[in-house]
Amino acid sequence: MSMKYLRGVSTLRLDADKCTGCGMCLNVCPHAVIRLEGRKAAVNDADLCMECGACAENCPAGALTVKKGVGCAQAVRIGFLTGTEPQCGCGDDSCC
Ligand code: SF4
Ligand code: SF4
Repeated sequence: MSMKYLRGVSTLRLDADKCTGCGMCLNVCPHAVIRLEGRKAAVNDADLCMECGACAENCPAGALTVKKGVGCAQAVRIGFLTGTEPQCGCGDDSCC
């Protein structure tokens, strides 16, 4: 089962003109949000993005941006499953 983020609110942005097709973002994305089409990255489904930031941090071309931790889907999931306030426990004070 794939967990969907809140629809239409992901801050993930891809500038395909900058993409060199290295494939790094595919390797680090935990939710298979990105695919390669020919020699360019393309977004499969932005609603699957949990805004972890791994793709943007590892993109050598600066082709990806995402506001890391904004509305963190992991926190929402944990809060939903435990009946508590959203909190992902990542230890980053700027996160949820
Ligand atoms: S922010 Fe995380 S979940 Fe979203 S596309 Fe990048 S690596 Fe995948
Ligand atoms: S990591 Fe960056 S340059 Fe490499 S495929 Fe992904 S978007 Fe393109």
